[in-house]
Amino acid sequence: MNGHYRCDEISVLISGYLDDELTQQQQQRLFLHLQQCSDCQQQFDQLQLLQQSMQQGLTQEGLSMREDDRIQQQLNEPKTRLLRRAGWLLAGFGAAPLLAYGLYQFWHDPQVPVWMKFSLSAFWLGGLVVFISVLRQRIRERKTDRYNKVKL
Ligand SMILES: [Zn+2]
Repeated sequence: MNGHYRCDEISVLISGYLDDELTQQQQQRLFLHLQQCSDCQQQFDQLQLLQQSMQQGLTQEGLSMREDDRIQQQLNEPKTRLLRRAGWLLAGFGAAPLLAYGLYQFWHDPQVPVWMKFSLSAFWLGGLVVFISVLRQRIRERKTDRYNKVKL
């Protein structure tokens, strides 16, 4: 084939080229051989394609991971956390008196039968117990798995 290089030597040059390790002179010799040898040209094309698709895959993976990190960071940003907590607090303070008032009115309404008073109270108490147990679990999960994804 080519006077300077044999095909098995060219395959070494190809991998060297893909790793960006060849000198200018070696590159020239490689391409000179590729122009004359279709076997090596084919090998070169395949390896280059393979490398490109691998790099593309890695880059895409890296990008999506970075995007994930960015969203995660935004969610965990102190300002966002504070706002969310303030919102919950405000809603709680607003709802508590309303709820208490409603319950008070309900309990002192002579038209409401006693069994319904007890039934509804039990219902609320049950709901409260469930709420607290869920809250406790959330807090425990947060403590044990700080790096878990934030669920809104
Ligand atoms: Zn060749």
